[in-house]
Amino acid sequence: MGGTFDPPHLGHLISAESAAAQIGLSKVLFLPNGKTVYKQRENIASPKQRFEMTRLAISDNDLFEISDIETKSGQITYTFDTLEKLNLIYKNAHFFFIVGADSLDYMDKWKNPKRIFELCTVAVVGRAGFSQDKLKKKAQALKDEFNADIVFVTMPNIEISSTDLKKRIKNGISVRYMLPDLTLRYIKKNGLYIENSGENSDDGRK
Ligand code: NAP
Repeated sequence: MGGTFDPPHLGHLISAESAAAQIGLSKVLFLPNGKTVYKQRENIASPKQRFEMTRLAISDNDLFEISDIETKSGQITYTFDTLEKLNLIYKNAHFFFIVGADSLDYMDKWKNPKRIFELCTVAVVGRAGFSQDKLKKKAQALKDEFNADIVFVTMPNIEISSTDLKKRIKNGISVRYMLPDLTLRYIKKNGLYIENSGENSDDGRK
């Protein structure tokens, strides 16, 4: 499960847990991304901080692991490239790349989508509010164009977004219970998301 995880929150964790349970995954590997390409953002936590927040967020779940394959690279990272690398590390694994319904809409615009769809099954986590019809149509279009293998997972609608969490923190509004305590403690200790507090900035994408 890739993500900017800026910061990670319960929506991400429940999404991963739902995918693991419904598909029967033996492990979920969290991949905080490194430098990213599409949108410039201010007040973003550094790759190292996003890795650490994610590591803390998943630390009480034996099924969850974290990889620094993207955060340590120092380069712009692309999903197809990460999947190539993971394929060499976990030689006999079958990969499911877990994405939210929003991401499915854009995957054919990502770099080298053909290779992405060759290297993994995409597990789309549908939330209430997303039209199933629209999702199924998009999945069919990706199957037609790339021979993509796409499966669907359901989860309760968790109305939490990283953007909203950052706004709340900046404005001193409580975010307790929206993300794991350990992650929140790290955010407070490091003064993250209070204006200009990021260790450094990188850019995001979508
Ligand atoms: P993100 O904002 O941190 O979110 C990670 C995932 O969690 C997304 O799939 C997102 O789905 C889902 N999510 C967020 N809030 C949720 C909630 N409340 N309930 C359920 N699910 C929720 O990460 P991102 O920036 O979208 O990046 C996702 C992955 O796509 C990363 O691995 C990134 O590297 C990859 N990506 C690759 C390329 C490329 O290779 N060119 C381009 C763009 C992204 P939604 O998208 O539906 O919010």
